[in-house]
Amino acid sequence: MDAQIIKPSNIPVATGDAASKTGQPGVVFAKIDDVVRWARTSSMWPLLFGLACCAIEMMAVYMPRFDLSRFGMEVYRASPRQADLMFVAGRVSRKMAPVVRQLYDQMLEPKWVIAMGDCAACGGIYNNYAILQGVDEILPVDVYVAGCPPRPEALMDGILKLHAKIKNGEPKGQIRITDFGLRG
Ligand code: SF4
Repeated sequence: MDAQIIKPSNIPVATGDAASKTGQPGVVFAKIDDVVRWARTSSMWPLLFGLACCAIEMMAVYMPRFDLSRFGMEVYRASPRQADLMFVAGRVSRKMAPVVRQLYDQMLEPKWVIAMGDCAACGGIYNNYAILQGVDEILPVDVYVAGCPPRPEALMDGILKLHAKIKNGEPKGQIRITDFGLRG
């Protein structure tokens, strides 16, 4: 069967009816950067771990009601070496911080971090010496999801915002410089 060359502007948009589906093979032109970013956002594998109550909502997002597998993310990886996305779901104690940082360091590049919930974002209700006042003291956070806890829909919104950042080629998050605490 002969292949056609189709300009991106001429790619037909299927309307759902049978007549709009020609079945003709074609060639689509795209920048390699766009293809790589599309592949990255369509196959993110999160690290399997949770720190506190927010992790329950994080687990819910993988259940059939919310069904994160629609975005190619249905597999939690138990090894950081097979994961490229970290949800920090819960408060991070200073005792736990080096462990979280080590997990992050062992993850594949490129990798991203979503701070889920108020505790991960800014310490939340735990305004004391034992809890990091934001996990961005030790990790570069790409997206913050507010709430105590955030609903699963809010986490999904954060994931989609991260996808948009990656597709737009926006820079990764930064570690916040503080007067105390761990530095990355
Ligand atoms: S933000 Fe609220 S629900 Fe989440 S870990 Fe902190 S106290 Fe728990």
